[in-house]
Amino acid sequence: YPCVLMTQMSHSPLVLFFSLIPRRRTDVLLMSPWLAPIVWEGTFNRDILNAQYRQKNLIVGVATFAVKKYVRFIKGFLSSANKFFLSGHRVNFYLFTDHPQKVPPMKLAPEKRLFIIPVQNYSRWQDISMNRMDIISSHIRSRWRYEVDYLYSMDVDVQLFEHIGVEIIDTLVGTISSWQYTKPRENNSYERRPESRAAIPSGEGDFYYAASFYGGSVSEVYKLTTACFKGVTADRASGIEAKWHEESHLNKYLLYHKPTRLLSPEYYWDEELIRPHIVKVKRLSSVRKDLNEVRF
Ligand code: UDP
Ligand code: MN
Repeated sequence: YPCVLMTQMSHSPLVLFFSLIPRRRTDVLLMSPWLAPIVWEGTFNRDILNAQYRQKNLIVGVATFAVKKYVRFIKGFLSSANKFFLSGHRVNFYLFTDHPQKVPPMKLAPEKRLFIIPVQNYSRWQDISMNRMDIISSHIRSRWRYEVDYLYSMDVDVQLFEHIGVEIIDTLVGTISSWQYTKPRENNSYERRPESRAAIPSGEGDFYYAASFYGGSVSEVYKLTTACFKGVTADRASGIEAKWHEESHLNKYLLYHKPTRLLSPEYYWDEELIRPHIVKVKRLSSVRKDLNEVRF
């Protein structure tokens, strides 16, 4: 069809339009039912996005935690993010760790900056993971709202393999879990117990989002992290812990506060899973880890 257009009307704006998008996707959902774009390889032109974004002169913050044995992931995360995360754009990496002296020296690109922020550790890995919400929310209040325009939270036990660019920038952004594209499994399920503040009534729910990568404007991430940590605190007071910890609270929040943009599992691929054909690019994936060794 585009070929016919080429020969008959080779200078039409329509032909030009087609040539700007590498290949059109018909095999995946490109828009949520509330009209938020879902970002997949082949749905955007990075050059156009970069040119538009550059005019705004924005700074993106990235909050990452490396506590206890997770310091071993810092090098792989930072060196790959330095190369592939918003390449050519200003990024502040905020690395929270209980071992600041163990952060390896690293030469970052001139537009990237690294801030090392000491944090305490907790004996339970679940608490380290859940408390991220609280720490992010208080740093937004005290500092980041004056310092960055957008903020993303990323796990440290990940590595980037391909560009993650300005196609991720929007007001409220969630990443669809890679488990959503495999057989239904326990690993991909909402908290349903009504006693938990993360509970989603049965029959409700749409996408399942990964807590390993989310973000948005500083004010939206503030609302999100504050609300999620309120839920965590209330659950602690009633002696319950949501099934997938802060991820359960994140899913509840994003169900009732719809993200303005969704990232496909290209943006967080779980290495345990076999990648289906629709996930053409693995931009970021988890690093395999021995859970019993690394968390205790
Ligand atoms: N984390 C950490 N130390 C720990 C446990 C967790 O620093 O002992 C942080 C780290 O940033 C990690 C995140 O919490 O990426 C989420 O935990 P984890 O990666 O174990 O969860 P999973 O991705 O396996 O669900
Ligand atoms: Mn992880």
